Amino acid sequence: MKKILIADEISISGIEYLKSQPEFELLVALDSKPKEIIQQVKDVTAIIVRSETKITAEVITAAPQLVVIGRAGVGIDNIDVETATQRGIIVMNTPAGNTLATTELTFTHMLCSARPITQANSSMNEGKWERQTYAGSELSKKVFGVIGVGRIGGEVVKRAQAFGMQVIAYDPYLTQERALALEVEQVDLDPLFKRADFISIHVPLTDDTRHIIDAKAFEKMKTGVRIINCARGGLIHEKDLIDALKKGKVAAAGLDVFNEEPLSETSELRNTPNLVLTPHLGASTEEAQESIGLEIAKAVTEVLCGGIITNAINMPSIDGRTLKTLQPYLVLGEKLGTILQQISPPQIEKLIVTYWGNIMDLDAMPLTRGIQRGYLLKISGKGVNDVNAPLIMKHLGIEVEIIKSSSESGYTELIRIESISAQGEKYNIEGTLIGTRQQPRVVHVNDRDVEVIPEGKLLLLENKDLPGIVGVLGTILGKDGVNIASMSLSRNDVGGVAMTIFQLDSIPSQKALDKLNVAEAVLNMNLVEL
Ligand code: NAD
Repeated sequence: MKKILIADEISISGIEYLKSQPEFELLVALDSKPKEIIQQVKDVTAIIVRSETKITAEVITAAPQLVVIGRAGVGIDNIDVETATQRGIIVMNTPAGNTLATTELTFTHMLCSARPITQANSSMNEGKWERQTYAGSELSKKVFGVIGVGRIGGEVVKRAQAFGMQVIAYDPYLTQERALALEVEQVDLDPLFKRADFISIHVPLTDDTRHIIDAKAFEKMKTGVRIINCARGGLIHEKDLIDALKKGKVAAAGLDVFNEEPLSETSELRNTPNLVLTPHLGASTEEAQESIGLEIAKAVTEVLCGGIITNAINMPSIDGRTLKTLQPYLVLGEKLGTILQQISPPQIEKLIVTYWGNIMDLDAMPLTRGIQRGYLLKISGKGVNDVNAPLIMKHLGIEVEIIKSSSESGYTELIRIESISAQGEKYNIEGTLIGTRQQPRVVHVNDRDVEVIPEGKLLLLENKDLPGIVGVLGTILGKDGVNIASMSLSRNDVGGVAMTIFQLDSIPSQKALDKLNVAEAVLNMNLVEL
């Protein structure tokens, strides 16, 4: 029975869900010391944590059966993702579970920036009655500039529209289709700064987005603009915001996230007027914690049951529908990779993967990982999977290039993989899917036409195109008691070099292989096992 360790507290619904799965044994061990964790993980296939328990390299090494680490929440600072990836362990989190919680906190900040509720409340607590001081502004009919229209940005947009706001958005990755569906006007950053009465940021912190709002941006904005950041500290230049608030350029602002967290007790932000601060409360609702616990429990068990992988940090997620479409290509790609590795020299420098036809419209990332996994199968054995295949390739010094070609290939879909050795020798294989059942076929090997089902044991021979050669080879195999299931013959010129591929029912003895290798017409021979 597969064992799942719950190392940090997750929601009751998450625990109940795991308990209801008969194929898993649950070990709940909260607040364990590092030494205790190392003992607990020795026979577990999954670990679920929040941010408290550290899943270090030592813990990962102590867990030989570990397949997946689930983080209930977003940040993964407590997990050694690199070591997990090297071991082929999936690391997943729950980025969607707190979408609505953060959306609603953003909107709370929006309303608090329009109506000085917190300031009025403090004044009331001091025994005052200041009706003039705390007049506000309405959201209705105001221009709302959203920076980043992903999960949270999209939900914030809907709420702003319900309040009668006119929404403009800046997100270079936002498709026209989604912008239309959300009924937002797509604009560049500068026009957004110029036009907006309220601005809210919902982007990740990257080199592109760091200080996306700074003194220069404030200069472009309307006087009296209101600014919200419930995304990440570092998106707004904090000192510039303080100055803009003090000068009245910014009428009010709300921050849930900071450059440094926890915010220092002496931070100037704490005493800046018209600034409402919350201590990173975006995900802090009962519902979000419930939904995160259940989400990670479902995601982890799905992986352990061989299902789809969602929200993995160290590999691309594939939804069920895409996986179904990709499945036949994944089988084909893996087999092509395994064959190519066995007909290539042991050390290669580069793999060039080219996709034609229907594959052009698919997400090539999982397919390319499958090809790399196939290539590494005989090199790295069972330890290789889609998680660590690209990393192993990198460690072996093999560069992987991907080409999506719109040129005519003669097939509805075609995958070509070429290996290039350090000496510049090139080997290649091409494959396609045949018929309504989408069965994999190898159609070219080293630029020769063949037609081979990539299954079982294949003997690939390059031989001189001489009369009777097939009989000679067949006799050697027959005498060895090896049955030929099928055969493919190909040659470029009459009397030139031919390629013969035998599909065999069993592996020939070394004696028979030696005989084949020295048969007069044989130039080169590879035995491939799939
Ligand atoms: P998401 O990935 O769904 O959306 C991010 C959006 O940002 C995407 O649409 C992307 O296209 C856009 N984007 C990326 N680079 C951009 C750029 N340079 N300019 C403009 N747009 C850009 O993420 P999400 O789940 O909506 O989260 C948004 C932010 O909120 C993240 O920073 C996340 O870490 C943060 N967050 C905070 C809390 C909290 O507790 N305060 C909770 C959850 C998420």
